Amino acid sequence: MKLDILAFGAHPDDVELACSGTLAKHQAAGLKTGVVDLTRGELGTRGSAELRDQESADAAKVMGLSFRKNLGLKDGFFLNDEYHRLRVIEMIRMLQPEIVITNAPSDRHPDHGRGHQLVNDSCFLSGLRKIETTYEGLKQEPWRPRQVLHYIQDRYFKPDIVVDISDFFEVRMQSILAYKSQFHNPESGEPDTYISKPEFLDSLKTRQAEWGRLIGVQYAEGFLFSRITGINTLTALI
Ligand SMILES: [Zn+2]
Repeated sequence: MKLDILAFGAHPDDVELACSGTLAKHQAAGLKTGVVDLTRGELGTRGSAELRDQESADAAKVMGLSFRKNLGLKDGFFLNDEYHRLRVIEMIRMLQPEIVITNAPSDRHPDHGRGHQLVNDSCFLSGLRKIETTYEGLKQEPWRPRQVLHYIQDRYFKPDIVVDISDFFEVRMQSILAYKSQFHNPESGEPDTYISKPEFLDSLKTRQAEWGRLIGVQYAEGFLFSRITGINTLTALI
């Protein structure tokens, strides 16, 4: 399976909260998109790892993803070391994405910044042929994505680019609400968290509307580049 766009998230729901509209839009346009979650979010206050597995599978269906896998790394404690880089490199080489999208450089949850660095470093190292990996017994070829982008999740960054997701805003919200254990539910008996208050969902809408307004559309998702990005001609901007 070769993907056009592969998004990584430190936890199931990171990708949905930050770039599900963009993934759904590209998938609907005929590109192949996928998600690799680094952990199962087992330290989350509400729900359980098993529940999050089911919720992330439901969200994948909403977005129409071609592929989704959970690496099962340790929530809160995964590192940017040789072992963890090799697990990420195996995914990049197996899926051969042209574009990788991952967590913001820093964020409220420390796993997000660490996930950012782990995936960013692995995207580079994946192109080095002297790093040998196998997946399901098969030797893998080196692969370096042509572009690495970072989505913006909780803490604010001024985006380098924004993507019009107006037609996919409802899909975006449905993919987020697939995580029933995490967000506002008046019938839930579990403790309230930072993201379970009703205002949290309102705040998501406000940010997407603000970025949409900047480019004259209703809703947009924002991204950061990790390096200078070239285009062939200025018409790519039209
Ligand atoms: Zn997270």
